Amino acid sequence: MTALDNSPNKIPSVTLDDVDSSVYSLYEKREKIFTRSIEGFFQNVRLFTGWPLLLGYFLTPWIMIDGRQAILFDLAARKFHIFWLTFWPQDFGFLAWALMIAAFTLFFITTLLGRVWCGYTCPQTVWTAIFMWAEQVAEGERHQRINLQKAPWSLEKVFKRFTKHGMWMGFAALTGLTFVSYFYGVRALVTDVWHFKLADTALFWSVFFTIATYANAGWLREQVCLHMCPYARFQSAMLDEDTLVVSYDPQRGELRGPRKRNADPDTLGLGACIDCFLCVQVCPTGIDIRDGLQYECINCAICIDACDSIMAKMNYAPGLISYTTENKLAGRGRTWKRPKLVGYGLAVILMITLFSYSLFTRMPLELDIMRNRGELYHEVADGLIRNTYLVKIINMDRKTHTYQLALSGLPAPRMVPDARIVAPAGEVVELSIDVLVDPDKLIEVNTEIEFRVETDDSLWYATSESRYLGPEPIRSQNND
Ligand code: SF4
Ligand code: SF4
Repeated sequence: MTALDNSPNKIPSVTLDDVDSSVYSLYEKREKIFTRSIEGFFQNVRLFTGWPLLLGYFLTPWIMIDGRQAILFDLAARKFHIFWLTFWPQDFGFLAWALMIAAFTLFFITTLLGRVWCGYTCPQTVWTAIFMWAEQVAEGERHQRINLQKAPWSLEKVFKRFTKHGMWMGFAALTGLTFVSYFYGVRALVTDVWHFKLADTALFWSVFFTIATYANAGWLREQVCLHMCPYARFQSAMLDEDTLVVSYDPQRGELRGPRKRNADPDTLGLGACIDCFLCVQVCPTGIDIRDGLQYECINCAICIDACDSIMAKMNYAPGLISYTTENKLAGRGRTWKRPKLVGYGLAVILMITLFSYSLFTRMPLELDIMRNRGELYHEVADGLIRNTYLVKIINMDRKTHTYQLALSGLPAPRMVPDARIVAPAGEVVELSIDVLVDPDKLIEVNTEIEFRVETDDSLWYATSESRYLGPEPIRSQNND
């Protein structure tokens, strides 16, 4: 076994002895990680979580409902279509609630199962896994990639690098374009890309997300988890002694040391760890899990599969590295009476209940009234007083509706026009309405009024307040 094989999965760098001690850099140079591929139970689980996510991301824009894209964030029209629902800017509260529910659900799951989000479903993990696979296809297994890295430039090296970066760029471009299709419409996007007439904004964001994907999954990889992701920093606050984490069992593993296959560790005075470093060589963040719980660990369990494969070869029991808890490792039992877990769980249940109630009782109708500020009031030919309003009815439903507008707060008002208003699905209808009142019946100069719009079937309604201005009430002048 060479020194490199026996080392962590990085190319050895310069040691402190080699460095002029008077010249230390404040920034450590990143050492490229060359992971070794491995198969095993948890790798298969990652396939079952990764593929549905990838397929969901790439195929969802192609799903159509009632002739339009099922999920479409139409920024130009300021409408978010999510399956059978359409959200307007007025519904921003729902987005805020949805994000809060997602955050607290993540807190709950992290307290219960540790960083399963990071290890199995985080886009950075899933996309990095795809890029690593492409790297392996183009440049070979770990030792071949290390040799290629050290080799001088040659035609073969150029070809392999070109193939790898071509695959990365292709997948990154597909990712970027798909992301933009959620806003642009996938069919329009394909047509416009095909005819080289993609709108400037769409082109900018497609290029931006392509480069971001290429850089994050191809070059930065674990650096995103270690230095850029805020979640990695604060999630240790969610863990407790009963949280499931990937751990090495030092009681069983130590003293570590090499030995022949099938050798009995007890007779050698050793533990079960044969110090093969396979768990380190497969780790995508380049850490040694035997050093204990570290914030760099994304709980991907690849080291479990690696170690179990070694244990099988040695005819030892699996589980030297396993999903376990701090309490279990210390020989204590597990409890469900955990304040954080209960707190997050209750918060999630409460928020989902309130969110569902708000969503199901949401009225897909909005009424906006603006009084004509250009005039106080106008006296028309037959002695009546006129105020003019701009009425805006927003039909947020996916069906056309007919509405009736009504007014309260004034004595015998007359609206002109007083017709039923038809608003097509997802459209805003604006019209100017004159409200005429007999000044003899007005009791105030400035009267508070309320408009109410109601669907034909009286299922939904919306109200909006405004003011009606008139002359000094006639009645008070008569009293004088
Ligand atoms: S230590 Fe194990 S679980 Fe943690 S990141 Fe490395 S391989 Fe994944
Ligand atoms: S893979 Fe298992 S046996 Fe090998 S070094 Fe890691 S913990 Fe020890």
